[in-house]
Amino acid sequence: MAARRKLIAGNWKMNGLKADGLALASDLAGRLKGAGAVPFDMLVCPPFPLLFPVGEAIKDSPLALGAQDCHAKKSGAHTGDVSPVMLVDAGCRFVILGHSERRADHGESDAQIAAKAAAAHAEGLVAIICVGETEAQRDAGQANAVVSTQLAGSIPQGATAANTVIAYEPVWAIGTGKTATPADVRDMHAHIRAELAGKIADPDAVRILYGGSVKPDNAAELMAVDNVDGALVGGASLKANDFWAIGTSCR
Ligand code: PEP
Repeated sequence: MAARRKLIAGNWKMNGLKADGLALASDLAGRLKGAGAVPFDMLVCPPFPLLFPVGEAIKDSPLALGAQDCHAKKSGAHTGDVSPVMLVDAGCRFVILGHSERRADHGESDAQIAAKAAAAHAEGLVAIICVGETEAQRDAGQANAVVSTQLAGSIPQGATAANTVIAYEPVWAIGTGKTATPADVRDMHAHIRAELAGKIADPDAVRILYGGSVKPDNAAELMAVDNVDGALVGGASLKANDFWAIGTSCR
């Protein structure tokens, strides 16, 4: 199997003001610099207004910067939106797309997510495309089918392991304290890996993250599961000690 370096990504969501974001990102950047060689990449995804100051604060460190969404167009009459080229200008290398909160709050469709991912790729950004079923869908035995449909609709032409990361985030595990069992995560990540064949040229090299109430006390077990290539972390990414502990749980 291709060697895949783990990615530990923090989704700050709509949390933190400038001072909080700078303190958190600078703390993590300092730890990464001090640690030397680590077996994981680390990424923070602050809210839009914090991208420039945080990007400036961490620019000389291995800590990567990402955004939580982007528009599919480069510029124009799209009030309230932010384009991929603006994210690059702020120092971003990654963008989270199709998070279940955006699918729910903004009605984002798979086709819109694919268009955003294609636009992100065109600017050299890595798209972290999120998929995952609701509790009702899992209870109805539809989890694999739902995720297959999301993958088929959300991954654009031209996706490669270098420009695309998949995040499996069961909706019922996000921010709830409920975590999928390692066996369920293993089965779903194997399913996703198989589904990537035909959609991405180098499916074995694509990183597949798990997200959903990842914490320091469950991270080592989850990160050791086959085909789990890192974590997308919400709540625990807002505390430097917790987020760092999730990173260092990677082997
Ligand atoms: C997320 O928002 O992507 C997430 C996984 O949140 P949490 O870790 O808080 O469940």
